[in-house]
Formats: sequence, structure tokens, C-alpha cells
Amino acid sequence: MKCAILSVGTELLMGEITDTNAVYLSRQLKELGLDVLYRYTVGDNDSRLTEVLELAFNDVDLVITTGGLGPTDDDMTKETVTEFMGDHLVEHKETVDALREIEVERRHQFSQNNFKQTFLPSRAEVFATEAGTAPGFALEKDGKIVICMPGPPREMTNMFEKRVRPYLMQFKEGVIYSRILRLFGMGESRVEYEIHDLIEKQTDPTIATYAKPCECSIRIASKRKTEEEAAEAVDEVVTQIKEIVGEYIFDENDKDLVNVVGEKLIANGISISAAESCTGGMFAEYMTSVPGISEVFERSIVTYTERAKMEELGVKQETIDKDTVVSEDVAREMVEGLYAKTGSDICVSVTGIAGPSGGTPEKPVGLMYVGCRYKGTTVVQEVLTINFSREWNRKYGTMTMLDMINKMLDGREIPTNHRLK
Ligand code: ATP
Ligand code: MG
Repeated sequence: MKCAILSVGTELLMGEITDTNAVYLSRQLKELGLDVLYRYTVGDNDSRLTEVLELAFNDVDLVITTGGLGPTDDDMTKETVTEFMGDHLVEHKETVDALREIEVERRHQFSQNNFKQTFLPSRAEVFATEAGTAPGFALEKDGKIVICMPGPPREMTNMFEKRVRPYLMQFKEGVIYSRILRLFGMGESRVEYEIHDLIEKQTDPTIATYAKPCECSIRIASKRKTEEEAAEAVDEVVTQIKEIVGEYIFDENDKDLVNVVGEKLIANGISISAAESCTGGMFAEYMTSVPGISEVFERSIVTYTERAKMEELGVKQETIDKDTVVSEDVAREMVEGLYAKTGSDICVSVTGIAGPSGGTPEKPVGLMYVGCRYKGTTVVQEVLTINFSREWNRKYGTMTMLDMINKMLDGREIPTNHRLK
């Protein structure tokens, strides 16, 4: 079944609220295997709402609206939809009774306009509300259906779960199964280029790439009669993609890199410490977002100045003098000093130039050295980011630290020259 989502509310057009309802509904409909072809947003205006309904029904069989079901004068979704579907409003006894019951329960008298909500289209299938006072409904005409739900997200999601999803089950067509591969070290356009042939020849499963700050992802989705069939088709494509860009993939089920790393450390009881310069504590911030990390995360020392690196980690003045503080040898001494101090199973360090100033032709902004010691071996990676911004460089440095740990834990090879592809 082809669907459209229609969000009603002038506040949405003004940018005062974000349309989280549409995002929620897109996901829910996808899970039911219903295709969402369009999302519309319209203000609280009956003639424009009518026009959008006309437009939508040229292509779809089902329109789901949220918003404008309340008791106030600007709420006109119900009236407009009812007229559009050639119906009229009648008092809905169960809704009146429900309101009366709430009045008794809460010792509260509703004002007259609350009872506006008890009038519903005569042919409607009514969706009673548990979370508010405005019921929703489905109204059909000539095989086309409109479903109207209230705007407040809590009321809407409650109604969807309890009433609308069961109603929609009758239209469920097959199931969609999807997986999301997450990659670090290769940008979205390059990933797309590398797997272009696969993308071209596939219609199901579909393959789509997405860019995220400092990483990217590939979504593989299939719609089949059963979940098993869809999963099998998706897994086959995942295998093909891994043959091409496998070395950049850190998770195959949409997990964040920090969680991938944190969970491995916890599961194997591997302790970790860090020495951070240009990331300024971002690594610690990431690590501590992982539940249970206190079992293995020993410390992260922010050694921002040269003096801090020398005092805290025993970095030598002559090493700094030899090739500046942003250098392979300094990253290595930071790791070794950190290990001497903490004895942690894994020690990581980073030193770099986050920018926007401080770069030179030899040592440009975005240059970083990331060191990692594990099982007696220290590896230092030279990283050169594309220097989008200070924030981006700091995040990229943090992600590189995590990526190195992940690879060392897996015994995977680490290139000493890291360039974002
Ligand atoms: P009410 O009875 O509260 O008036 P309603 O069904 O008439 O409900 P609206 O008046 O359109 O809904 O919106 C009420 C509130 O719900 C908005 O102020 C906003 O906070 C939230 N809301 C409405 N639409 C959306 C949306 N699409 N996404 C997220 N929040 C929304
Ligand atoms: Mg309202």
C-alpha cells in the first residue's frame, strides 16, 4: 500500500517545532512494509489542507495526518477531512461517555469546546485515546483511507501503538529487513564509488550510503514475504560489500564505534588509559558514555601543553625540539610514559593540530599522530584529516583512537599513514 504522511500545524512551517511525528510514522510504516511515498506539511488552513489531500490521493491509497484534532478553533483537521471524504460529523457516544468519566475521575469540568472532540465522522472507525482527550479515526471512501491522529507526540505514539498499528495490520505487505554497516576511514562518496556496481544492479535489496560526521554508513534493505527471506537476501549483499570495503567496517548492525570498542574491552577485561592533547578529553567523554566502562577505563590525562606532556608522561624536551610536539616520536613517548604510569593493557595517545590556526606547510592543520600500545607493541599512525573544522578534527582524532584500539584488539593491520579516503 502506498502512503503519505501529512503533518498539520502552522508551528511546523514556522520552524518552531520539529516534525518528529513524521519521522516516527515513517519508521513505523516501513516496519509494516507499507511504502511512504510523500511527506507533506501544511498550516492550519482548511483550503490548503484540502488541496494537499487532493494532491496526495493522486498517488497514494492512505494518508496519515497528525495535528489539529484538538478542541480549539484553529484545530480543523477533522472537519476538513470529513468534508473531503464526503461524510458529516455526528456525536460519538462512547467518546462523550469517556469524557464524562474523566470529569468524574479528576473532579474536573471540561469546558464546552472539549465536547467538540466528541463529534466524529459518521462512517469513521474511531481510535479511542488513552493519553489525551482527542480520539483519532480512520475514514474510507472509494478505497482511499485517511487516518487522523492528534499532534502531541505522546498522544500520537500511544494511539499508534494501541490502535492504529493493529488497524494497519490488515494492509501489511511483506516485511522489510535491513542492516546498517558502519565505516570509518572512508568517506561516503568514495564508498559509493567503490560499491557502485552493486548499487547499480540491485533493486532488492536496496543499498544506500549515508554520510555522518567523520564516518559513513551503508543501509541494505530487502522487502520479502517473510523476514527469513529478506534477511537472507540482505546477508548475501553484506558479504559482497565486505569483500570490497570490509577493512573499513567496524560494525554490521548500526553500533557506534565507541560501543563496539567499549563492549570488547569490558567482555575481555582489558584495561585502558589515554593521554590526550588536541582532543582535550573528548576520548574520555566518549568512553564514559559506555555503560559499565568503569570496569576497564582507568584514566585519561589531558596533557595539552608541552610542559604537561613532559611532567605527566615523561616526554623529553629533546624529542619535542627534534620534530615539534606534533610528531610521531612525541605520540610514542606519550604512550610509553602513560604505560609506565598506569600499566594499563591498552594505552592510547594523540597529539595534533586542531586548527584553525597553528598550521605550517610541514605540519598543516588536521595533522595528528595517534599512538596505541597493546601486548608490548606500540604503533603510531600519522593522520591527516581534510580539516573541515576544529570540532571535526577533534572528533576525527577521537575516532582514530577508537579505531586503532578496535583494530589492535582484533589483531588487524594498522596502516601507519592514515588518510581519509
Ligand atoms: P491539542 O489537543 O493539543 O491542540 P492537536 O491534535 O490539535 O492537539 P496541534 O494543536 O496541531 O495538535 O499540536 C499540539 C502540539 O503537539 C504542538 O504544539 C506540538 O508541541 C505537538 N506537535 C504537533 N504536531 C507535531 C509534529 N508533527 N511533530 C512533533 N510535535 C508535534
Ligand atoms: Mg491544537
